[in-house]
Amino acid sequence: MQPKPNIVHLPVYQPGKPVEEVKRELGLTDVIKLASNENPFGCSERAKAAIQKEIENAAIYPDGGAVELTRAIASKLGVNEDQIIFGAGSDDIIMMIARAFFVPGDETVMALQTFPQYKHNAEVENAVVREVPLRDGTHDLDAMLAQVNDKTKVVWICNPNNPTGTIVTHDELASFMARVPAHVLVVLDEAYCEYVEDPSYPDGLALLRRHPNLVLLRTFSKIYGLAALRIGYGIGRPDVIRFINQVREPFNTSRFAQAAAIASLGDDDFLERCRSANRQGMRTLQAAFDRLGLPYFPAHGNFIMVDVKRDANDVFQALLRRGVIVRAGHRGYPTHLRITVGGADENARVIAALEAALQEVAVQV
Ligand code: PMP
Repeated sequence: MQPKPNIVHLPVYQPGKPVEEVKRELGLTDVIKLASNENPFGCSERAKAAIQKEIENAAIYPDGGAVELTRAIASKLGVNEDQIIFGAGSDDIIMMIARAFFVPGDETVMALQTFPQYKHNAEVENAVVREVPLRDGTHDLDAMLAQVNDKTKVVWICNPNNPTGTIVTHDELASFMARVPAHVLVVLDEAYCEYVEDPSYPDGLALLRRHPNLVLLRTFSKIYGLAALRIGYGIGRPDVIRFINQVREPFNTSRFAQAAAIASLGDDDFLERCRSANRQGMRTLQAAFDRLGLPYFPAHGNFIMVDVKRDANDVFQALLRRGVIVRAGHRGYPTHLRITVGGADENARVIAALEAALQEVAVQV
C-alpha cells in the first residue's frame, strides 16, 4: 500500500490541546482554553433553538446546495446566489480550492507565518509552496507579488492574519490586486472580519466587484460561535465558485449547521455584544502586557500575539500547569504566544497565570 509520495512527510493537524486532555494529564479540575480563537460567549440563542428544531429531520439528508442559507447570505451581502459556496468550515473551502486549482508543479504564494491549511492543502495536491516572511508581523504584499510567476495559481492572504492578528489595509490590498496578474486567484481569508473595527480594513466585496480573480473566505466558527457545526463560505465570481462547486462533496454541510447559520444571521445583537466584549477583553489584555513590558502585534481579531521574551514553549508549559491553554510553536516566533481573548474571568485568569509564569521562566536575551 503506497499513498501519494507528496503526503508522506505531511504532519497531521495539531489542534490546540483539548481541555479534557490537560485535566487528565496534569490532574487539574479547572482548565480554560484560549488556544483556538473560539467564541467564549457561545452562540446565539436563536441558533440553539434552530438546531433543536432541526433534530426532527436528522434522518433526512441536508440540502447539498444550502439554498436557503445561500439566499440569506446573498441578500445580506448584496451579491448573487451563484457567487456563494458553503463548506464544512472554511477549512473545507480551502481544501476545495486546492483540489480544484492545483496540478502537480503549480505554484502558490503565502505568508511564512499564516494559517497552516493553505500550505497543507497545496502540498497534498503537490503544488510548489512559496512562503514569504511577514514584515513586522504583517503580510509583505510587495514581497509576495515578487514571488508570483507564470506558474502561480493561487495567492493566499489571511486578514486578520492568524497567528499575528495584523491586517493589511484596503489601499495596500487594492494596490496588490491592481498589480497581480489576472491568471492568479487571490484568496482573501476573512475568518475574523466581523471583529475588525479599524476603518482602513479592506472592503473585500468592493474589491471583488473590480477583480474577478478574488475569492473571499468567511466562517460561522468565530464570532457566530458555531465552530462545532462546521460551516463557512466562499464569495467569488460565478465562474470561480462553479469550479469550487465541481469538487464539493454532495452533502458537505449539515442540516444543523445550515439552520443555525440562518438563525444566527438574524441576531445582530449577539454579534454586537460579542464584538464589544472582545474589544473590552482585548484592552484588558493589552493593558496587562503593557504593564508587564511585553510587546505585542496590533491585534484586529479575537486573539493577540504577545512576545513573552522567554522560550514560548516553556511559558506555554508553565501556563498549562496553571490550567490555562494557549498556543505556542509559531515558526519564526520562538518567544511569542497566541492568546484568544476570553470572557472577563478568563482574561483575568490568563493574566494572573502569565504573571506567575514569567517569574518561573528565565528571560531569553
Ligand atoms: N481561516 C483562518 C484564518 C482560521 O483561523 C481558521 C480557524 N482557526 C479557519 C480559516 C478555519 O475555520 P473553520 O474551518 O472553522 O471555518
